[in-house]
Amino acid sequence: MPELSSKSSGSESVYDLLVCGGGIFGVSVAYEAAKRGLKVCLVEKNDFGAATSANSLKTIHGGLRYLQCFDVKYSFISAMARRDWLRFSPELVRPLRCVIPTTRKLGKSRLMVGGGLAFYNLLTSWRNRDMPAEALIPRAGLRSLNAFTECAENLDNHGVTGAALWYDAQAVNTERLLITLLMQARQAGADVRNYCEVEAVRKDPSQGSFLCQLNEVTRGGIRTQIRASYFADCSARGQFSQSHFGASEPVSYVQAVNVVVAKALVKNAVGLSMKDESGASRLMFMSPWRKGFCLIGTWYFDTDRTTVSPSTLKDIVAQVNSAFDVPKIVPEDIVHVHVGHLPADQAKLRHSGADASLLKHARIQSLEAHDPRLAGAYRIVGTKWTLARYEASIFLNRLAKDHGLSIGPTTFNQRRAEVAQIRALEGLRGLGLSERQLAYIKQYFLAAGEKILALCEQEPDLLEAVPGEVDCIRGLVRYAIEFEAVCSLEDLIVRRMPFGNAQSPKNETLRYCAQVLFRHLGQPLTDEDLMVEQEKLRNFYLKTKPF
Ligand SMILES: Cc1cc2nc3c(=O)[nH]c(=O)nc-3n(C[C@H](O)[C@H](O)[C@H](O)COP(=O)(O)OP(=O)(O)OC[C@H]3O[C@@H](n4cnc5c(N)ncnc54)[C@H](O)[C@@H]3O)c2cc1C
Repeated sequence: MPELSSKSSGSESVYDLLVCGGGIFGVSVAYEAAKRGLKVCLVEKNDFGAATSANSLKTIHGGLRYLQCFDVKYSFISAMARRDWLRFSPELVRPLRCVIPTTRKLGKSRLMVGGGLAFYNLLTSWRNRDMPAEALIPRAGLRSLNAFTECAENLDNHGVTGAALWYDAQAVNTERLLITLLMQARQAGADVRNYCEVEAVRKDPSQGSFLCQLNEVTRGGIRTQIRASYFADCSARGQFSQSHFGASEPVSYVQAVNVVVAKALVKNAVGLSMKDESGASRLMFMSPWRKGFCLIGTWYFDTDRTTVSPSTLKDIVAQVNSAFDVPKIVPEDIVHVHVGHLPADQAKLRHSGADASLLKHARIQSLEAHDPRLAGAYRIVGTKWTLARYEASIFLNRLAKDHGLSIGPTTFNQRRAEVAQIRALEGLRGLGLSERQLAYIKQYFLAAGEKILALCEQEPDLLEAVPGEVDCIRGLVRYAIEFEAVCSLEDLIVRRMPFGNAQSPKNETLRYCAQVLFRHLGQPLTDEDLMVEQEKLRNFYLKTKPF
């Protein structure tokens, strides 16, 4: 462990809370802590939200699935979390109609499933109170066989007796949702840094605070030291505390994979029984996503790799096709592979396989139990994107209780404050933007409206469309580069701009973005540079090469 000096350098920054990891859990903790009055520093070693959080199936679960294992508490919590996200950003989170087939098997029969749906309706009867019209969640219920066969053409409906219909929600763009939360944390006073690694943390007994060494990768590896009264390890699966403090209870993990197909295969989300080579079947979900795409997943593997082999992709294609009477996709239809890692129970992983070993609930642990000198340090192991804001509120309540802190009320499930940026949209309309361009800004960049308006008023050229993207004005690219901590073309294309979120954008769009970014970074852009960037992006989307 690098040496950390207890002597204050005078210029050392001091915080209430250091959050290690800028995935959805770390960002949610930073937002909640900043809004509740703590001085927070959030540190992410790569780009914000670029790890597992960028690879989810985008479902904001309404909790029905927890009822399958009679977990009523989490079914309720998940429905609250769905309401919270729909309130936080009705632009980026939409109700998602979901269907699964009923069959003659007892567990999937109309009687059992119908009973479950009726109970779910009762349990979540409050779900639409004070909700905006676009976020209303209809009742769940049983439907006829047609409701299943209408989900997609040529579905194999052998043995299907009807359909169960309910509503989850879908995050249209999880990356923009995470960045929106992050920018609001920053507005509330949080210091947020990407490409900055927490290298070492040690308790300084003389002052009772944590001394933390950070390595600022983008500033040539400059090492800085900060102090924080409390430390939250949100590095996914608690990997930081495991390697630095040797924290007890190691958490294993499994690789989780989705594929994005550039075909509108289904009309709504549908759970389909897919068969693997051995003939064993599993329920997989196919969701319509954006215009013309379909998200399919999730497959679990017992490996720590961040790539998938071409043969695994071929197997995945065969499994998808097994749910239809005629083959629907070929490997070339896959435009993006999502790969992430999820926490798993070590013993179950050994005996029951990857699927069965996934942790069901998040863990929030004080490291004091492991080492009394670590009082004030916690690790947060998250399991679902959906529950990140809920778990963040639970963590802050616990921190306040454990240390007698007086902090503000939670933001979880609170109504969204009036967004001043709506007025900015009117300003942009006055500058002559089309309704589609305004709708694009409203959906993806609403919280940044005022800054975008100011940029466009200063430089009217920014009102022009990005080459190849008629609905996206140049001001959005400029805003992202100037205000959203973009350090590479991948950050910009994939996690800030909606047009690169599903697949690589058109060449002219890529070239334009590269030119603006390189100019901003003070670097010349040659054709060779552009080819290198294109190749990097290709590897990024298809995840078939190590990165
Ligand atoms: C294929 C797949 C499908 C999924 N589908 C869904 C779904 O539909 N709905 C749902 O609710 N959930 C879903 N999930 C689960 C969800 O994505 C995860 O639970 C969630 O993203 C985990 O977030 P996290 O912040 O804990 O982890 P991460 O996103 O991995 O963030 C941890 C961050 O910590 C950083 N870090 C690590 N060490 C350091 C250090 N020393 N210093 C600084 N930073 C550090 C890492 O770089 C990383 O960015 C899915 C997951 C996968 C993989």
